[in-house]
Amino acid sequence: MPELPEVETVRRTLLELVSNKEIEHVSVFWPKIIKHPEEIAQFQDALVGQTVQDIGRRGKFLILYTDDYALVSHLRMEGKYGVFQKIEPVDKHTHVIFHFTDGTELRYKDVRKFGTMHLYMKGQEFSTLPLSQLGPEPFSADFTVEALASKLAKTKRNIKAVLLDQKVVVGLGNIYVDEALFRSGIHPERAADDLTREEMERLHQEISDTLSEAVQKGGSTIRSYVNSQGQIGMFQLELFVYGRKGEDCKACGSTLERIVSGGRGTVFCPKCQVK
Ligand SMILES: [Zn+2]
Repeated sequence: MPELPEVETVRRTLLELVSNKEIEHVSVFWPKIIKHPEEIAQFQDALVGQTVQDIGRRGKFLILYTDDYALVSHLRMEGKYGVFQKIEPVDKHTHVIFHFTDGTELRYKDVRKFGTMHLYMKGQEFSTLPLSQLGPEPFSADFTVEALASKLAKTKRNIKAVLLDQKVVVGLGNIYVDEALFRSGIHPERAADDLTREEMERLHQEISDTLSEAVQKGGSTIRSYVNSQGQIGMFQLELFVYGRKGEDCKACGSTLERIVSGGRGTVFCPKCQVK
């Protein structure tokens, strides 16, 4: 599942690939991906003749801006965008194609078909679902220690689950929650309202640092993605805990453990992250 740094890398890559291209028509092969408007024909008709002006991001959502519309897209588990020449064969996992007037196409592929697209008039995208329910961006002025503290004080749920749910802060998924908690020295099953002020300050800092380091890392690999036929893939930051169950903690040498927390596999260091 792509998290904020991966989505941000996709955003930057796509911006280079499709800016200023005019949409000639749109093909939809799996209508369930389109969540708004309800009529698929309305979705297709709206975009005819529209030019791609910008690509934004809110949390893990991409927002493709055209002259008049905002297309809010979530990749969920397996969604990927790629830019192709129209003569290139279309594979069976391609569910939506934006055909441009220059003979290239933006194709949305999704093996699991869990991805979503919502099309709104520009300006309505933030006041309607799914974007309207999101917490602050981790790099924005709204994400302060105070804002984090006041939200954590209201829930007894464990900190892992709280950070996954996108209402306290957006952009974190399983990888970067585990990494930020490790780097803060906080056990994933601590009750959110039990964290000390010092722990919340560390957590606030590590959420920003972990994500911004990963964004920078993505920025450095972006070229290779663009060059390979416009295919966009994933990259990863060097990780301390995620995917390292049974391996040695890079800080203290203890064996990393795995539990299920917040409904997700969670790896942590039993010595650096005491409950
Ligand atoms: Zn350790």
